[in-house]
Amino acid sequence: MTNFTLKNSALHAENVALSQIAAEFNTPCYVYSKAALTQAFTSFKAGLVGTNHLVCFAVKANPNIAILNVFAKLGAGFDIVSGGELARVLAAGGDPKKIVFSGVGKNAEEMRAALSAGIFCFNVESASELARLNNVAGEMGKIAPVSLRVNPNVDAKTHPYISTGLKNNKFGVAFEEAIAVYEAAAAMPNIAVHGVDCHIGSQITELAPFIEALDLILGLVDKLETKGIPISHIDVGGGIGITYSDEAPPAFTTYAKAILDKINKRNVKLLFEPGRALVGNAGVLLTKVEYLKPSAKNSDAKNFAIVDAAMNDLMRPALYDAFHNIVAVKPRVGAAETYEIVGPVCESGDFLGHDRNLNLAEGDLLAIMSAGAYGMSMASNYNTRGRAAEIMVDGDKCHVIRQREKIADLFALETCLK
Ligand SMILES: *Cc1c(COP(=O)(O)O)cnc(C)c1O
Repeated sequence: MTNFTLKNSALHAENVALSQIAAEFNTPCYVYSKAALTQAFTSFKAGLVGTNHLVCFAVKANPNIAILNVFAKLGAGFDIVSGGELARVLAAGGDPKKIVFSGVGKNAEEMRAALSAGIFCFNVESASELARLNNVAGEMGKIAPVSLRVNPNVDAKTHPYISTGLKNNKFGVAFEEAIAVYEAAAAMPNIAVHGVDCHIGSQITELAPFIEALDLILGLVDKLETKGIPISHIDVGGGIGITYSDEAPPAFTTYAKAILDKINKRNVKLLFEPGRALVGNAGVLLTKVEYLKPSAKNSDAKNFAIVDAAMNDLMRPALYDAFHNIVAVKPRVGAAETYEIVGPVCESGDFLGHDRNLNLAEGDLLAIMSAGAYGMSMASNYNTRGRAAEIMVDGDKCHVIRQREKIADLFALETCLK
């Protein structure tokens, strides 16, 4: 996370001290670095120079319109999974002709919105969805461009909740059924077959599962061609992992080269759907220590540091037992203690980190690192907590890209019986 560094013994985002952000905007808040977002996108593209490709940021990783706008200006496309995400991309200035629409449960209204916008492709996940899309497009007098999301039954070797390419996952069309569903698609009047798509999971740190899946996909593309169903693009999905602690995912250029070597001058456009890899290390969650609760003397109980961020702000530790590095914004000299870093929510699962060695005092600021992906996007109002503010730093400037939610807003849509 090279845009979050210690300067004069204080943690900064680019040129702005995180303590200054806390003083100005309060905590908890998410802080993103525009330079880190830009660098992630440009380095993802670096291995693809001179090839026919489109990098579609997976919006669900972080849907703030300011972040989408940064990527849109860099020429990104977008991978969406709902009508809500479609609206966000359009509001952020994204190009509808660079949108792919994934997801197992697209409803008719979402299909209509995407057809009206003129998106690049629907990633269709079942035969039933295909039939519905054909009907909806027919009613509108349109032709829907599609890929089938094929499930290659490949083990991505990641957490079970974020593994999507095994045959017992809900995602995609089973590999064995793909040819039959493609033949059905090719015969539908309001469907145009354009591509093949697969996405096998998230936080993948090895190349092998990507290559194994791509080999199967290329075999399928060849078979489809012999059946008179030409494929003009291959969407290899997202899923490339990041470093949270000591993971060593392949460099983007290594990943790109491995894929391009397999594609080997085939005349297809390549699509990528990275989410986490573009935003994960471009953001931190800034929080304040409210209370220290030392263990009872001579007991083996834990020391707790109760901070003002909680599982409703960053769900990954509670949901996946995920690790985030937690660092002091102004590290103190002197002996550290081992702390459970926990939030105020009434759940024992409300922790942000276990067994962290820190020298803390009440009122200290902590940065929960690598929180740019699936942080704010999974935040909730559990315990009637307003969601955190989001700040984007650009050099020495701070921009509020989402205001802190106000308490009155949290029940503004609710009504008592008369
Ligand atoms: C979530 C998702 C992605 C992005 O996954 P990352 O691991 O964040 O790169 C890409 N494509 C689809 C279909 C997804 O559901």
